[in-house]
Amino acid sequence: MLRRHLAARGIDDPRVIDAMAVVPRELFAPRSRAHDAYADRPLPIGMGQTISQPYMVAWMAEALELGAGDRVLEVGTGSGYSAAVLSRVCRAVYTVERHAPLAEGARALLRKLGYDRVRVRCSDGSLGWPEHAPYDAIVVAAAGPRIPGTLRDQLGPGGRLVMPVGAVGGSQSLVRERRDPSGGFSREALGVVRFVPLIGEEGWG
Ligand code: SAM
Repeated sequence: MLRRHLAARGIDDPRVIDAMAVVPRELFAPRSRAHDAYADRPLPIGMGQTISQPYMVAWMAEALELGAGDRVLEVGTGSGYSAAVLSRVCRAVYTVERHAPLAEGARALLRKLGYDRVRVRCSDGSLGWPEHAPYDAIVVAAAGPRIPGTLRDQLGPGGRLVMPVGAVGGSQSLVRERRDPSGGFSREALGVVRFVPLIGEEGWG
């Protein structure tokens, strides 16, 4: 996985690669699909949701340009796999999932595996997690119609926000926004992706 799916496709942040090397994806995938855990494909995790493909997790983690002291908000905990990866490259991860069974499963697994720098909450992540804002970085693992203003407000100066934006059921654009010190935002399109929808007050309703 590291050589063929990550390095060969341009992932070169050594801290992201190290994290991907040690987080056991087979434990976050359904037991019946453990043999597929290091193939580069999403896998079903229940509630009609998926654990993202390894390349996507690494690409988004790299795009966040994380420092060791950073605090990160993740929207879309799913299995908890990407939160575990992120927690190995930053100081703390606050991750929000709207489906209670997924949030509870991820919380229990992360605790069992010792990922004590990750906190999980069940709520509408399109509204963020304001109690712990501002964040150095925000990553959204589901596609919305636009970047929620509430998430922008929770990004600190110099912060990066990475999120797929675009229609449901088709492909979307993975965008990165930076908040400059004066409060303005600049935006880059990183590439074309395909994600499940962000369902919520500032998502698809
Ligand atoms: N990062 C996850 C992992 O490593 O397993 C995969 C995330 S999956 C592609 C997207 C997740 O976003 C789903 O679990 C879905 O339920 C969740 N989601 C969608 N809308 C949400 C919202 N408004 N708030 C929180 N989670 C949401």
